[in-house]
Amino acid sequence: MRIIKHKLEKALYRPTPNHGGTFAKKRPDTIVIHYTATATARQAVDALSNLRVKASAHVVIDRDGTVTQLLPFDTVAWHAGESRHLERTRLNKYSIGIEIVNAGWLRKSGEIFLAQSGREYTREEVIYAVHRNSDVPYVYWHKYTEEQLRVTEELCALLIGAYPVKWIVGHEEIAPERKQDPGPAFPLDDLRRRLLGVDFDLKDDKGATPRVAVVTAGRLNIRGGPSIKAGRVARPLPRGQQVEILRHKGNWVEVETRIRGWVHKDYISPKKGET
Ligand SMILES: [Zn+2]
Repeated sequence: MRIIKHKLEKALYRPTPNHGGTFAKKRPDTIVIHYTATATARQAVDALSNLRVKASAHVVIDRDGTVTQLLPFDTVAWHAGESRHLERTRLNKYSIGIEIVNAGWLRKSGEIFLAQSGREYTREEVIYAVHRNSDVPYVYWHKYTEEQLRVTEELCALLIGAYPVKWIVGHEEIAPERKQDPGPAFPLDDLRRRLLGVDFDLKDDKGATPRVAVVTAGRLNIRGGPSIKAGRVARPLPRGQQVEILRHKGNWVEVETRIRGWVHKDYISPKKGET
């Protein structure tokens, strides 16, 4: 594959009217990965070309790895919606949207697995996995094909070479309250590690790993280990709480909080062995 004048040389090209004009300078700097939640590329391309749907993406990657491009890579697509990454909101104006044909979460019914569309999938087409967003209840997910994963990685590498791309994120990470795509069947962390050389996407303004961070959630559970199954070690941290970053593992960060204040002398005692 090659990118010439913001288009993939050998991709099918099917322009969509749904777009927001040319990107500003120094953009796009982010790639957002999605699944289509459709059975076929055609369904996705048709929807993303429909004026009434008011959605689009730069490319759709079919089950066999065939790429359909809908917009040149210098043009803003409408794929992220309400979203947040680092200190920025509404990611469309910063990002390239890659849609991969995948049915998403599936419901088990006897020996088969049903997509939201009603289409059936077999055990071999499904993985059982917990989503990175801890409140997502679904555990059966449609697998991506080898061809899709290979083409997605190749395309991301090309885009990193052609544009100032610093981040690859899942839609589920920038809109966690509403989105589950690309879901746990997509090896997002592996892709980032290979292409961007990082397995940790919490960065400060200069792109460095921060040593101190601030809680942005309303109430953030703090646990004894890097898993939602690990018990809570304290009351939830409030928004704005400053934490020191000790280390990280996958999507989890071990932090320490230092609270300074006054307490009555009767309710504290010296640490054993010290005076
Ligand atoms: Zn999406």
